[in-house]
Amino acid sequence: MTAIDWQARRADFPVLSRRVHGKPLVYLDSANTSQKPAAVIEAVDDFYRRHNANVSRAVHTLGGEATESYEGARKRLAAFLNVRPDDLVLTSGTTQAINLVAYSFALPRLRPGETILLTRMEHHANIVPWQLIAERCGATIKVAEITPAGELDLDALWKAMTPEVKILGVTHVSNVLGTVNPIAEICREARRRGIATVVDGSQAVPHRPVDIAALGCDFYAFTGHKMLGPTGTGGLWARREHWLAMPPFLGGGEMIKEVRFEKTTFNDPPHKFEAGTPNIAGVVGLGAAVDYLSALGMAAIEAREQSLLAYATERLSMVPGLRIIGQAQQKAALISFLVEGAHAHDLATLLDLEGIAVRSGHHCAHPLMQFYGVPATCRASLAFYNTTTEIDALVTTIDKVRKMLG
Ligand code: PMP
Repeated sequence: MTAIDWQARRADFPVLSRRVHGKPLVYLDSANTSQKPAAVIEAVDDFYRRHNANVSRAVHTLGGEATESYEGARKRLAAFLNVRPDDLVLTSGTTQAINLVAYSFALPRLRPGETILLTRMEHHANIVPWQLIAERCGATIKVAEITPAGELDLDALWKAMTPEVKILGVTHVSNVLGTVNPIAEICREARRRGIATVVDGSQAVPHRPVDIAALGCDFYAFTGHKMLGPTGTGGLWARREHWLAMPPFLGGGEMIKEVRFEKTTFNDPPHKFEAGTPNIAGVVGLGAAVDYLSALGMAAIEAREQSLLAYATERLSMVPGLRIIGQAQQKAALISFLVEGAHAHDLATLLDLEGIAVRSGHHCAHPLMQFYGVPATCRASLAFYNTTTEIDALVTTIDKVRKMLG
């Protein structure tokens, strides 16, 4: 295998050549949303310029092409994640995917007093839908705690898997701590106890090889815009038996076989769960993103990002007064940090003046902020297209800002 010229790959991403406040853009916010390669932008453009039509309905040529492109993207995405295309429902992202599980799987099934177990490190997208349905069916929510280093306390997790727990919501990779959770082991333990597992793969799929079939979960949700794809795309994989047993979440066109006012019969999954006109161009773009990621290879991407993470961790650790939040053994390439004497938002604003984009805030993870007793952190999140020079720019600027504010 020939080594990948990572520096050269930057040219695939038009926005990376931008300047911000007169400085070269240093984009360190890929966990928020990734940048898009020209191949993705062109796939969306080409769809609208040459093939635009609605899917599934039209018999004309463009209709056929649109359907083929849309279903072709589903097939490539399914192969990328090692699942069957028919078990992959396309959604607007993780948020819609988890709401679909909550409303179609959990709500009809949970009885008062039954419990949904969530981990301390979940994104609000894997907390709030559960609270909404728990309120409606009388279920309760229980929290699996983490260690100060930001790892799941596995002994506590096994103990928390009591008989009334019916569903476990767990993130594959934390968007704040970077922690990679041992999902296969967790799903095995949950399955032994009859607990259905809902895995949030938003931060995993873009950064490491993900073989959903090997994880042993019941549901796996992911979002397209963090994996080089367009916003408003993503999906939910579920075991076939669940799809067959679940009622639809949204009703409308596309998801039916026959509608009569007396009774409607539904289409087969995945279409049963894809009511209305989907984000066709976006999904076509997501297919192009999968092609791009596959050509590089997820193992190579992971190795590249791990070396950037090691470099960034070492350099940031040397900045006086800088504290890294999230020190798990297994981490994805993102670093949350605080700098003594500087509010996270002020720091992010001053970094922006130097062209450096980091995220500051609670990262849609209030319960984690409560655990660490902080209102916000700064987060630098890396992708394979970042460089050590960019990390140097981050470190130098933080140091400058620290001295300025100190
Ligand atoms: N879960 C995690 C871990 C995330 O990082 C995000 C995005 N910040 C989401 C869920 C929500 O994804 P989306 O808004 O694309 O649905």
